[in-house]
Amino acid sequence: MEGRKAFGWAARDTSGILSPFSFNLRETGAEDVMLNVLYCGVDHTDLHQMRNEIHSTNYPLVPGHEIVGEVVELGPEVKKFRVGDLVGVGCIVGSCGECSPCQSNMEQYCPNIIPTINGTNKDGSFTRGGFSSAMVVHQRFVVRIPENLAPDQAAPLLCAGVTAYSPLKQFMGSNRVLRAGILGLGGVGHLGVIIAKAMGHHVTVISSSDKKRQEALDILGADAFLVSSNAAEMEGAANSLDYILDTVPAFHPLGSYLSLLTVDGKLIVVAAVPKPLQFDAVDIILGKKAITGSFIGSMEETQEILEFWAEKGLKSFIEVVRMDYVNKAFERMERNDVRFRFVLDVAGSNLE
Ligand code: NAP
Ligand code: ZN
Repeated sequence: MEGRKAFGWAARDTSGILSPFSFNLRETGAEDVMLNVLYCGVDHTDLHQMRNEIHSTNYPLVPGHEIVGEVVELGPEVKKFRVGDLVGVGCIVGSCGECSPCQSNMEQYCPNIIPTINGTNKDGSFTRGGFSSAMVVHQRFVVRIPENLAPDQAAPLLCAGVTAYSPLKQFMGSNRVLRAGILGLGGVGHLGVIIAKAMGHHVTVISSSDKKRQEALDILGADAFLVSSNAAEMEGAANSLDYILDTVPAFHPLGSYLSLLTVDGKLIVVAAVPKPLQFDAVDIILGKKAITGSFIGSMEETQEILEFWAEKGLKSFIEVVRMDYVNKAFERMERNDVRFRFVLDVAGSNLE
């Protein structure tokens, strides 16, 4: 059971360039699930971590935290999965299990979470992400992929999807049509548009250029589109939005976005911006506006977004590529040239 080899691709230094890397999987414990990775989404947080832009990165780093795989082995105490099941793993693979967030099914806010990448397992080994052939994960952090959801489609939901779903859930079932803003139309943002539309909201995309206008309106079904540098367009939309989901991963002063919010409106920051954000006090005082944050979602919410997606027959917009394209994929992500999420066909790639 011990010392089985997995093959993955890892970053070795702050250049973030990935290359083949083999490592030993940890032993499958009593409550662990071993899975062979089929697909893995490519998220901007992977890039931040590969380059040591957030937290401090331990190299070699095997990224990937939107993982869909097939169960190949189970610890003796795992009852909820069977060999052959299609399962998902997101951003975390462990938590203390005892603190207040853990006890109230919000394990993502546990002060001792074990992240799927750049973390340390309870046995002292490093965590390795889904840009690899196989993983061993505690059953609490494994979700079931619904039968009518394609595995490559499911991958982006495990981080980007639940990151948009968790904070938007509070607005579900509103008795009026809420006016939503989605700031930044990348992996998280495009799923935010689809989720907000599925919740019945009127959705405005706020983008850094005009390039995605047609796609936002015609393909994703957004109702309106604003270019953030277009002062007239931004002014025309002042005081109109109930909330904005902010997914922009680079520094951006918040004032012009706060001005789009109506009284009591909320700016929900999910982007891991490497520099401090900025706003003037009056931007939130006038209009009783709030700036809040949100971190992925709980395991329960991760299961919920998968069911929500399958039930409503929703579709994410992905580009499936093999591992030998991964460095190019990150380069294109950085150039903002993705529609809208890369998903790696890990099982179909030569990893060695
Ligand atoms: P992404 O695919 O790269 O999308 C980001 C979008 O932001 C771009 O498509 C672009 O949209 C816009 N943008 C504006 N200025 C930009 C700039 N200078 N550089 C890059 N993009 C710019 O990223 P993602 O995977 O959606 O992730 C978005 C952020 O959320 C990242 O910081 C990531 O770390 C974070 N994240 C947080 C959580 C959480 O739990 N809180 C979970 C997942 C990801 P336009 O073309 O429309 O302007
Ligand atoms: Zn805890």
